[in-house]
Amino acid sequence: MSLSKSTASKPNIGRVLLRGLRRKCPHCGGGAIFAKWFTLRERCTECDLRFEQNPGDTWALWVIGDRVFVGLLIIIVFIIFRSSSWTFGGLILLGILIPMVWTMPHRMGVCLAFDYLIRFYWGDASEVPPAIEDTELDRS
Ligand SMILES: [Zn+2]
Repeated sequence: MSLSKSTASKPNIGRVLLRGLRRKCPHCGGGAIFAKWFTLRERCTECDLRFEQNPGDTWALWVIGDRVFVGLLIIIVFIIFRSSSWTFGGLILLGILIPMVWTMPHRMGVCLAFDYLIRFYWGDASEVPPAIEDTELDRS
């Protein structure tokens, strides 16, 4: 599939973020971002978009969008649900950790979608192909 098949110029921000949330390519919505549960592919299998233009480009987004948010959540929950009971504290910790681990690829997908948008709007325009609007894959 060619990168130049699109006729649209700017990506729809909501659509791009939704694609990231679904762990799909932010550009075409077709290719999976991860090869395994949390192993990032280098390129999209459908449109050949390079997910990380330079290794480490998404590091700041991943820290801000994931670790800082989760750290604050843990601190807030432990302050609200202060407990002297190890059992209750352990249940709270599991209640935080399980959804946190379960949703990690989705959150990383959103971070990658933000990186795609940053590259598109503020980066070198030649790095990112023109947006592909509403594909069949988005509607499925
Ligand atoms: Zn793609």
